[in-house]
Amino acid sequence: AEMFGQLTSGLEAAWNKLKGEEVLTKENIVEPMRDIRRALLEADVSLPVVRRFVQAVSDQAVGTGLIRGVRPDQQLVKIVNDELVKLMGGEVSELVFAKSNPTVILLAGLQGVGKTTVSAKLALYLKKQGKSCMLIAGDIYRPAAIDQLVILAEDEVVVEFVERILTCGSHLHSQVVGVPVYAAGTAIKPAEIARQGLQEARKKNVDVVIMDTAGRLQIDKAMMDELKEVKRVLNPTEVLLVVDAMTGQEAAALVTTFNVEIGITGAILTKLDGDSRGGAALSVKEVSGKPIKLVGRGERMEDLEPFYPDRMAGRILG
Ligand code: GDP
Repeated sequence: AEMFGQLTSGLEAAWNKLKGEEVLTKENIVEPMRDIRRALLEADVSLPVVRRFVQAVSDQAVGTGLIRGVRPDQQLVKIVNDELVKLMGGEVSELVFAKSNPTVILLAGLQGVGKTTVSAKLALYLKKQGKSCMLIAGDIYRPAAIDQLVILAEDEVVVEFVERILTCGSHLHSQVVGVPVYAAGTAIKPAEIARQGLQEARKKNVDVVIMDTAGRLQIDKAMMDELKEVKRVLNPTEVLLVVDAMTGQEAAALVTTFNVEIGITGAILTKLDGDSRGGAALSVKEVSGKPIKLVGRGERMEDLEPFYPDRMAGRILG
């Protein structure tokens, strides 16, 4: 199925109602605007976002008047496209790198959202840009996550992830692809692992160090306190919240909460290859003020890419 297919066809209904019209008027956009509103709500876009969006589009539609050679339905598509791009932050939000090595990227997020997978994907992504990376395995509550990170970092292309339980001693796993993972087992605190890992990264003079942290099923104080501790130790350049696109507008609320609690620089949206409806991609920036920087669209290591608002809008409009 096409990504956000339902949203695409829902919006299509709006332009279709304008076929045969000469010009956009206050009257003839009433029905199309209802369609747009309905399509966005069904895509699980946050209600205040839908309201502002619909208002902005209808204001422009009515003010457009007659443009020679451009049909009203095409005019509406153009207006919606531009507003969608704006809604998603306009420009692509690039990762920021520190002036001197290492750049530290701290990853946070709830359990199961794809954080560990993203850690390894991000290392490969940066490696392809010529940067040397090191991973720090900080998910001490899920011993398998440490092994998972080690396994993912070993192979460039992991078709199927095999969860193995290994006992992790305190050592540096040197990986075949050259993405070392600093793992110190599960008996020490994440902030201490962070301190040791960062020290190791400095010794190895890597360009970027990425730390995976422990998630929980839901937000709780212990997780936030732990993240604050780790953040204090690492003083990261980027604090990225990994969110599952399938959670829809809830993703935007999560980004807001994490931002208020620990201060983040952006989000990574995962599982865009699944049948998410679009609510997360369309709500995160507007609700939280923080940009989506990267998106994951698959379980393979190379399935990570920058979030391009204009391309995303193009996809949505079909
Ligand atoms: P964590 O608990 O946040 O560290 O989550 P994991 O990295 O262990 O991922 C949880 C599950 O989601 C795993 O089965 C991953 O393979 C899967 N996953 C992660 N990212 C993606 C993605 O972009 N697309 C799909 N389809 N699955 C993903």
